[in-house]
Amino acid sequence: MTNSAIGIMGGTFDPVHYGHLVTAESVRAHYGLQEVVFVPTGMPPHKSPQLVSEAEHRYLMTVLATATNPAFSVSRSEIDRPGPSFTADTVREVRRSRGRQTEVMFITGADAVRQLATWSRLDEIFQYCEVVAASRPGYPFAEFEQEIAQLPRAVRQRIHFLEVPALAISSSDIRHRVAEGMPIRYLVPESVKSYIDKMGLYRVARTSVRRGDLGS
Ligand code: NAP
Repeated sequence: MTNSAIGIMGGTFDPVHYGHLVTAESVRAHYGLQEVVFVPTGMPPHKSPQLVSEAEHRYLMTVLATATNPAFSVSRSEIDRPGPSFTADTVREVRRSRGRQTEVMFITGADAVRQLATWSRLDEIFQYCEVVAASRPGYPFAEFEQEIAQLPRAVRQRIHFLEVPALAISSSDIRHRVAEGMPIRYLVPESVKSYIDKMGLYRVARTSVRRGDLGS
């Protein structure tokens, strides 16, 4: 990677947690990235809107969580863009604003990367960037490999798998813990915990149902 390489950390961040922060920092250090830009999804194309917290809450929690790392920033790009949040649009926007020489690593969860074949304008995404698929320890890597085997070889060569022990923490577990009145201290930054408490987020449990085939 060159000096001008940056990471785009894509996720719903509902809420952002230490697993995300450790992942972003590990990738930044490993690939010598200048910066990692967190991009909370506005309207995830593959999820029912009523099952995702308001974009503004997710954005603000991400700002609070990343504030102490000078190499981290947060973009409103997907939140402010009307319609479903397609990664191809985000990557194109970053390249346009940073210049064509900027190399980009798109970082996200391995489960999301497994679904890559269904993402829109895949060619465009891989024209501009490489992808890091982050997973928790014990992740079924064989299944992941099987899933991405259907992608063209040139695409597969630009996907990197990374095991991150801290990803044993998950947003769904944090939401469950809040709904059950269990502690979340040390799973999320204190500032994020305070925001969740103050806004009364996640007090009501929600069923985690994915949208069917929405042509994401
Ligand atoms: P998701 O399905 O909610 O998450 C799948 C798994 O990945 C979960 O275990 C999740 O854990 C983990 N994860 C998500 N983001 C992560 C990150 N940045 N670092 C480490 N682990 C992460 O996935 P999502 O958050 O909705 O989508 C992930 C990204 O893919 C977003 O940027 C989204 O816009 C993009 N995407 C694009 C398209 C498209 O362009 N058509 C379609 C689908 C997804 P946690 O719940 O703990 O985060």
